[in-house]
Amino acid sequence: MHQGRHVSLEDPARADSANIGFIVGERCVAIVDTGGSVAMGAALLVTVRAATEKPICYVINSHGHFDHVLGNAAFTDLPGVQFAGHSNLAENLGASTDFFLRQFAAELGPAPAAGQIVLPTLQVADRQELDLGGRALELQAHATAHSHADLTVYDRETGTLWLGDLLFMERIPALDGSLLGWIEVMERLQVIAVNRVVPGHGPASAPWPAASLPQMSYLQSLRDEVRAGIGAGEFMEDLMKTAGAQQRSQWLLHEFNHERNVSRAFTELEWE
Ligand SMILES: [Zn+2]
Repeated sequence: MHQGRHVSLEDPARADSANIGFIVGERCVAIVDTGGSVAMGAALLVTVRAATEKPICYVINSHGHFDHVLGNAAFTDLPGVQFAGHSNLAENLGASTDFFLRQFAAELGPAPAAGQIVLPTLQVADRQELDLGGRALELQAHATAHSHADLTVYDRETGTLWLGDLLFMERIPALDGSLLGWIEVMERLQVIAVNRVVPGHGPASAPWPAASLPQMSYLQSLRDEVRAGIGAGEFMEDLMKTAGAQQRSQWLLHEFNHERNVSRAFTELEWE
C-alpha cells in the first residue's frame, strides 16, 4: 500500500493523492490503482519489482478519476497484463480524455507515452473473480455512487476490501456520481463482514464498518439539508453556504469540494 497525500487539485503533489497498491499471489501480481501520473505508476512498478519477480497479470482501476488511473500507462508494455475496470469505465475515461489531456499534460509525461489514457481490457459488469494463483480477488461493480464506474476489490485471503473512492477518510468526500446512489451502496457495504478496508483517500487501512461512519454522516446531512432547502424554496447559492456547514471543521480540504458537492446534490434532488 502507498498512502496518498491529502492535497487539492491545485497542489503540485496532486498526482500522489490517492491510495494505490498491489497484491501478490503465487502466480502473479495485481495492481490496485496506479496513481495520478505516469511517474507515479512507474514508481509503483519499481516498488513491485523490488518486492517480487512474479509477473503483473492485472491492473485494476477502482474508477476513472485522474488520481487513480493516469499511472496506467507505466504498465502497458508488460506482456500479458490485463486492465480491469467497471463496465462503465471505458466510456467514463473516453468522456474525460480531453479534460485529462488539457489539465494533466505534465502528469501524462513526455512523448511517446504522452496523452496515453489506457482503457480497460477486462470489463466487469457485476462480479468477477481473478485468480493470482492460490489467491482469489473478488471484483464487484457498483451502481452509480461516488462515480459512474466504482469497482471494489476483495482479497479473500486477508479479508481486505479495497473500496476506492467509495470511501473517503479525513479529506472531504467528492461527489461525482449520485448522492442517493452513494448512500445506498454504502448501506449495502456496511453490513459486510471484512477484516479491514482500504479507502481511496485516508489511512492505508481502517476497521469496518466504523470507518464508514463519518462519511455516511456527511452524505446524509448533505441529502437531508439540501432536500429541506429545496423544499423551502432556497437557492443553490445559499445552500452552498449553509447545508452541511456544521461539518466544516471535520474534513480536510472542505473548501475545495463542499460547495461543488452541494451543487451536485441540488441538481440531483431538485427532481424528486
Ligand atoms: Zn474519485
